[in-house]
Amino acid sequence: MIYADYNSTTPCLRDIAERMLDIQCVEFANPGNRASLSGRKARGVIDTAREQLARAVGAHPDELIFTSGATEAANTIIFGVMERLLADRPRILSSAIEHPAVCMPAEHCARAGADWVELPVDSQGRLDLDALRENLTRPTALVCVMAANNETGVLQDLGEIVRLSHAAGALVFSDMTQMLGKMPFNVHTDGIDFACFSAHKCYGPKGVGAMYKRRGLALSPLIRGGGQEEGLRSGTENVAGIAGFGMAADKAAREVHSRKAQLQRLTKQLESQVLRHLPGVVIQSGDVDRLPGTSMFSLPGIRGKWLAQLPGIIASSGSACASLQGKPSHVLRSMGVDPETAMRSVRISLGTPSTEADIREIATQLITGGQKLS
Ligand code: PLP
Repeated sequence: MIYADYNSTTPCLRDIAERMLDIQCVEFANPGNRASLSGRKARGVIDTAREQLARAVGAHPDELIFTSGATEAANTIIFGVMERLLADRPRILSSAIEHPAVCMPAEHCARAGADWVELPVDSQGRLDLDALRENLTRPTALVCVMAANNETGVLQDLGEIVRLSHAAGALVFSDMTQMLGKMPFNVHTDGIDFACFSAHKCYGPKGVGAMYKRRGLALSPLIRGGGQEEGLRSGTENVAGIAGFGMAADKAAREVHSRKAQLQRLTKQLESQVLRHLPGVVIQSGDVDRLPGTSMFSLPGIRGKWLAQLPGIIASSGSACASLQGKPSHVLRSMGVDPETAMRSVRISLGTPSTEADIREIATQLITGGQKLS
């Protein structure tokens, strides 16, 4: 089987997993026990990981809070900003193509009394900046726009989004889960206020992520208890996971340019082969800047599930959440793709283990499967 679902998750690197095993079984002290040497060592492991992640994303270490993943980070940011303001019916704007980790908490805030507006995107999945401008004419607390979409890879014009939002007094939260190790970025240069990250998208372990919160911004915690992570995420820290995330982020930052070049080269090979042999195939967000390694292929008029025609390939038809619910992807629907085509699209997402031989096999199976169903 050829794995081509790296946007969904990546394998944890062996040296990272081995280090984590040592932490779990040998250096297992509670970092909260500052009175003991082993507890202070565990605290040091967390501090190192925070510094590694900070360097990778361009933040100060004290601006990062470790969580159980990007979903928890996004929930903390959205609820944390909105909770303080609910009495004033705060306004929250989010792009129509956000991951459920962002749109579901936003929807929940709307049920609790917030004024939530989903901003449209164009046929390439780019945020409609006129709609943003128009919606910012009313006082807005938070604007949520993901940097890179997990299904199509479309990249947003964060600079302009931040400029417009800040000019209107709104804070900006960008889901950067798919960026780490694929595209160079810096949260300070980008000017965003909040971001979320996840270790398992960049060859680290599952179940650990982080939230970036710009210095000086206030946030109510989602999880309360013993006051760990500056009181913003209580509960004994996942020391092994955090250490693994730090190592994965460090490697991602050091290799980002070579990984980006590799993914761009393989993506180009795959797309040119498929386009050559399958007339009518559409690469979603294909006309704009995209995350390297992500290709969402659609074949309008196809009769049957394309994915089922790829027996040797592990790919997906969109986000795991949409597939679980058997629903067409809300990302493609927001871009104007009809429900049938959306259900029958195939996302190929590549990773650092992907090879040219993989690309030839994926292309062959996509082409033969597509021809059979056309
Ligand atoms: N945001 C995006 C863009 C993602 O791709 C994912 C992963 O599925 C998430 C958020 C959620 O990440 P996690 O699995 O760490 O909660």
